Amino acid sequence: MEPCYYSGVDQSHHGAGSGMEPTGITRENLGDALGRALRDLRISVTDRCNFRCSYCMPLDKYEWIDRGEILTFEEITRLSKLFVQLGVEEIRITGGEPLLRHGLENLVAQLAGLEGLKDLSLTTNASLLSEKATALAQAGLKRINVSLDTIHPDKFELMTRRDDLANVLEGLFAAKRYGMNPIKINTVIQRGVNDGDILELVEFSRQHGFWIRFIEYMDVGNANNWVSEKMVSKVEILDRINARYPIKEIGRHDESAPAVNYEFLDGIGNIGVIASVTEPFCAGCTRARLTADGKLVMCLFSDQSCDLKKLIRGGANDETVLASIHSAWSARKDRYSEERLEAMNSGEYRPNRRKKIEMISLGG
Ligand code: SF4
Repeated sequence: MEPCYYSGVDQSHHGAGSGMEPTGITRENLGDALGRALRDLRISVTDRCNFRCSYCMPLDKYEWIDRGEILTFEEITRLSKLFVQLGVEEIRITGGEPLLRHGLENLVAQLAGLEGLKDLSLTTNASLLSEKATALAQAGLKRINVSLDTIHPDKFELMTRRDDLANVLEGLFAAKRYGMNPIKINTVIQRGVNDGDILELVEFSRQHGFWIRFIEYMDVGNANNWVSEKMVSKVEILDRINARYPIKEIGRHDESAPAVNYEFLDGIGNIGVIASVTEPFCAGCTRARLTADGKLVMCLFSDQSCDLKKLIRGGANDETVLASIHSAWSARKDRYSEERLEAMNSGEYRPNRRKKIEMISLGG
């Protein structure tokens, strides 16, 4: 068996039936090289998307993962159970666009029933949500995150290269009707593209009881040609909102949450800001990612992975898989956003110097 990609992880010692399965693997003794616990797992269920947002899928052509290489729901559930054993408390289902995966509600039902899992959510572009919201809610999905960068139809089409805003809004309202709560809207702000829409999006969210979270535009992947000038900082976003609708900080939901939250002084609604570029939060990063084809990736900006699908399809038992996840997490040293800020401050940052996995494979 080939060694795992992560340094310090050698699966050749952990082969199924090798008689060398390690013992004593528990959530209590699992910290990474910087002392961070494993608490969150983001699971991509497909690399396909029906939108073509410029910061995520800028290319004209993509090579999709072969269907046979995509993890089955049973494989995802088995791995999720092991991750929960190692300390994961929150799972988020992502894509590509996860609602393109046929029968996703069946996976939701399997994951919602996992003992020890405290939170299950889904990030979607919502274009298919109105037709799937009932089944998802019945399967046990209680909350949802919707990616939406503008509520102007023309701009929406320009940004996503799809004329689908009406379906997205219908999806949002369907999720609300079926009692999902909170419904969070994730908005990436790009200067000169949708930074003029900030107040309108705030008003839309306040009016309908959605919780909007603004995200600083980041250098995910290598294909989107990120330049720092297009990034609108947390401070600037908050200044613009505060000038019209005064806010006060209420902090992070917990110390590992990416968003800093604010409430409006008039008592109507909340917002959050994810300042990955200007105020990185790597020190509290407890997130791991599982790609649609079963690779374990630790950081959104990584180019390294550990092939868990190969392990489980090779017949590895649970102890062996646990040991591999444990070894990979223990060796983890990622702090990309902190390093990016240090490099930006010293004038040494070059966006494409480092190779990264494209966001469409990771699910954000
Ligand atoms: S840059 Fe990587 S290590 Fe830092 S918060 Fe993001 S995912 Fe975590």
